[in-house]
Amino acid sequence: MDPLLLSLLRLGQAVRVIGLEEARAVGLTPVQAETLLFIGRTKSFATSIGRLAGHLGVSHASAVGVVDGLEARGLITRTGDTRDRRVTLLRLTPAGRQVVEGLGRWGWQLTQALEGLTVEERKALERGLGAVIWSLRRAGYLEVAEPCRGCVYFAENVAPGQPEPHHCRLIDRFLSEEEARKDCPDHTPIRAPAGIAR
Ligand code: SF4
Repeated sequence: MDPLLLSLLRLGQAVRVIGLEEARAVGLTPVQAETLLFIGRTKSFATSIGRLAGHLGVSHASAVGVVDGLEARGLITRTGDTRDRRVTLLRLTPAGRQVVEGLGRWGWQLTQALEGLTVEERKALERGLGAVIWSLRRAGYLEVAEPCRGCVYFAENVAPGQPEPHHCRLIDRFLSEEEARKDCPDHTPIRAPAGIAR
């Protein structure tokens, strides 16, 4: 097998093991932890079950199962989208927010593993993995949500001094600074990573 492919598979295996351990420590499964983090970090108008399914890479029915379980535990609630009544959005309850705070160091074991790398090794890894992620994203295998800055649709501070000074040209909506900083599944990067053709 291609040594690079083997390394990526091993990396994926380690990430799964670490995710399992860290989620267990707060009484969750990895997919439940990912779901709570998704709701906490994603823009308030993009936390639908469909978006969650895309983020987790599972079917809509599986995402509903995860949501039902977390709702039964009092960690999340469903609410209607004021702009589109057909859409149900997910919200954290105060108890869910507390759990998400406890997940603040999610992935710390990976961070620790990276501490042994030199600055050059880290930069090379970042470039290489960035290219892999870009290819997977372009091929439709990976959904990467990111904040507004760096998105082609972002118009920054078009209404200075207003509570929602920024604007999204994709959904024609004004955004507060807090919303702009949250992740968006529709983020469309202005630029591909260095050395990668769009
Ligand atoms: S599409 Fe871009 S500008 Fe619009 S909300 Fe998403 S990230 Fe922000």
